[in-house]
Amino acid sequence: MRVLALFDGTLADPDAPLLRADDLGVLRGDGIFETIMVIDGAPLELEPHLARLARSAAMLDLPAPDLDAWRRCAHTVIDAWRGGPEMVLKLVLTRGPESTGEVTGFAAGSPVPESLLTQRRDGIAAVTLTRGITSDVPGQAPWLLLGAKTLSYAVNMAALRHAAQRGADDVVFTATNGAVLEGPTSTVVVAQGSTLRTPPVENGILPGTTQGALFRAAAVAGWQTRVEPIATAELARADGVWLVSSVRLVARVHTLDGRELPDPGLTGEFEGMLREAVRPVTRFS
Ligand code: PLP
Repeated sequence: MRVLALFDGTLADPDAPLLRADDLGVLRGDGIFETIMVIDGAPLELEPHLARLARSAAMLDLPAPDLDAWRRCAHTVIDAWRGGPEMVLKLVLTRGPESTGEVTGFAAGSPVPESLLTQRRDGIAAVTLTRGITSDVPGQAPWLLLGAKTLSYAVNMAALRHAAQRGADDVVFTATNGAVLEGPTSTVVVAQGSTLRTPPVENGILPGTTQGALFRAAAVAGWQTRVEPIATAELARADGVWLVSSVRLVARVHTLDGRELPDPGLTGEFEGMLREAVRPVTRFS
């Protein structure tokens, strides 16, 4: 089951061709996207996702997205969905065809990939892979677009294939100065005592909406939360390490670079806190 809506809010056939061959999103990966979890018809953390879409657009010098139009487009897909209770909603905005100079936008709904359901249930064997830069490069080189959610994910997908060749499920990217960065499609969260930690966006990583929601809930539940640099060597000494993201939710890293990591038994609690934090509030008037 898949659903597709054009940016003007009309539904389109998900099996019919959609993009022009000269769309710069296709030719150069020149565009941005968001992946949003929808549960029982409610898009989770929609506003943080839209804020990040606008942030990515600004980083790529794309026209500021019309967020009201994106909200309508998202709801067109959600309303047309006839699949299961969980749907993955993608918002895509490209620089458009070279010849027209008009951006291309669409929203698509699809089922949750089996691989992510497995990660949620069974956890992850991950390997650390270098991104080949120091963690202070992003501020000095904004043209690298580190921390923008661009369509140029070929490197991220290559890293996942490399991990698979080494028998692992996922990747923790690291910087050449030893800093932990992020996963190819996730944010790294570390537990140490009563503190949850995650690396800062200044290190050139995407600001994670799931990490944001989890830390909001964790703070209420009495955890200290810290956004600060984490050294790769600290991962092996932590009480627990997780990769978190919108569709994966919370997946524990049970093995890192072939070494088993401790299980503090917190994954269920974190997933519960997260689901509660992102639960849409029903208002009665
Ligand atoms: N970092 C990267 C590179 C990602 O691609 C993603 C999500 O796909 C994340 C982090 C996690 O972001 P979110 O929690 O908003 O899904």
